[in-house]
Amino acid sequence: MKIPSKWDYEVDVAVLGFGGAGVTVATSLVEKGAKVLVLEKESFGGGDANTLAFAPLIFTVSDEAKALEYLRWCTAGRTEDEVLLANMEALQEVPDYIRKMKLPLREEPFKIFPYGEYVNAPGYGGLGQMMMFHNVPGGPAFFNAQAALAKEMGVEVMYSTPATRLIQDPDTNAVIGVYAKRNNREDIAVKAKKATIIATGGFAFNKEMLKQYISPAPTLWMGAKACTGDGIIMAQAVGAQLWHMDGKCGPMYWGIEVDNQLVYATWEVFIPDAAFYKQGSFIWVNKYGKRFDSEASKTIEENDFHRMRLREKYFAFDPKGTAEMKNIPAFQIFDEKARTAGGALVRILNPATPPWSEGGVEEIKKGWILKGDTIEELAKKCKFNAIDGVTRAGNIPSDVLRETVDRWNANCQAGEDPDFGRDAGLLPIDTPPYYAMGPMFPTFTSTFGGPKHDGKQRVLDAYNDPIPRLYAIGDCGSLNAYMYGFWGGTHMLTSALIAAKHAVNEQPWS
Ligand SMILES: Cc1cc2nc3c(=O)[nH]c(=O)nc-3n(C[C@H](O)[C@H](O)[C@H](O)COP(=O)(O)OP(=O)(O)OC[C@H]3O[C@@H](n4cnc5c(N)ncnc54)[C@H](O)[C@@H]3O)c2cc1C
Repeated sequence: MKIPSKWDYEVDVAVLGFGGAGVTVATSLVEKGAKVLVLEKESFGGGDANTLAFAPLIFTVSDEAKALEYLRWCTAGRTEDEVLLANMEALQEVPDYIRKMKLPLREEPFKIFPYGEYVNAPGYGGLGQMMMFHNVPGGPAFFNAQAALAKEMGVEVMYSTPATRLIQDPDTNAVIGVYAKRNNREDIAVKAKKATIIATGGFAFNKEMLKQYISPAPTLWMGAKACTGDGIIMAQAVGAQLWHMDGKCGPMYWGIEVDNQLVYATWEVFIPDAAFYKQGSFIWVNKYGKRFDSEASKTIEENDFHRMRLREKYFAFDPKGTAEMKNIPAFQIFDEKARTAGGALVRILNPATPPWSEGGVEEIKKGWILKGDTIEELAKKCKFNAIDGVTRAGNIPSDVLRETVDRWNANCQAGEDPDFGRDAGLLPIDTPPYYAMGPMFPTFTSTFGGPKHDGKQRVLDAYNDPIPRLYAIGDCGSLNAYMYGFWGGTHMLTSALIAAKHAVNEQPWS
């Protein structure tokens, strides 16, 4: 990488990305006396549907030994203790940070629900049972409060200015600055005398990376569209080791994408609120027309909150039979009773999902909801395209869907689902016309993978040595690896506080 002959900006620390992690590290650094420039790809901060979508619930540590045991388990041994311990320690600093920064906060932590996830994991209860809740409606309020504060403190944010490449000293391997495109047009070089901190989020909107690292099957994501893995690619270019690249928050949903936009995402946990259970119900069937799981249950505990249970089913592969993924794509089948139950057919889970019309009238016109006077006619309309390694093109076989619906209806009449043990919404699908949503694909919130880092958030090279002056925080190389043990909102705060503490102490290069 060419070292520029002239620098357009000179700061102590360059922060790439102004989501939750970026704003936290920037304010924390300025508070410690550093001169900071934040480069943000979008014309606004907050990570679009990512930081702006999160519910500001912050974990607390109630028992350190148990919390460590729990996190070791959740990360399946893929994250060093040093990193887990540093983040647990930083967690103790979060309340002070929040108070010092005068961010809206409930004084007393409280339980939002019995946290039903991984209850049988070793160390459960050491972390995550009590949550501190900010006295705000959600992510936007939390981010906006921090962003206003950052402005007041003199954090300079350059919007519509994506970071494009890191600048590395060829002799020392130190990252000494970054190239960016100011106003998406003009190349600029930023000299970062102490450090460069990558806070560009994950790669949920980089389809090639998703295919390589997550699954050959299409996966859909609810987070920020700007999260195209830029920081990961930039870090790779200066020799970073990657970790946790297959990590995903969820699966929580089946979703439908139209014109690159996620238009529908269903999450069984919350479905009992929706129109479907008032007077009708639905089932999910795979492309062969068969049910493959309990679509819903009465309690969160019986579901696991982030859908670990379903992962294998979502991506189940059939090597001896069709050599396809069995359940991808899937379709949601329902009837006129459910459609006209009143209320929304889709629960809006984040700003990326557009509102739907009452009873899905508009969505039927758009073809997002398929309609048939009979189950057999509907099956023919449930078409899907070929995807290499995943599925041949086709449609649901009419006779199989008929059989599946008949069996479901009989089970409803008997009041139990012997096939999958579903205990909620046991209502028959028997009133024409019939409807389907799909093809649906596994849908998640955010990716975990990115550059590997140590307990100081310093990015490591392939030999586990730190690349001098380079840090990564937030979703860009999260400590989460397998199970979602340490929520992203908590992690964006802890990782940012750790990075600020160490980056500010770097000796400036000259
Ligand atoms: C729908 C949804 C719900 C969630 N709910 C919760 C929850 O309830 N609790 C919880 O703890 N967590 C939740 N999370 C996870 C949490 O929101 C994320 O882990 C967290 O917001 C990540 O913050 P971040 O700053 O690392 O990334 P982001 O918020 O994604 O910010 C990254 C920023 O980098 C910018 N950027 C990207 N590329 C570049 C570039 N080349 N140059 C400059 N800037 C760039 C982006 O525009 C963006 O502003 C949720 C996530 C989603 C999507």
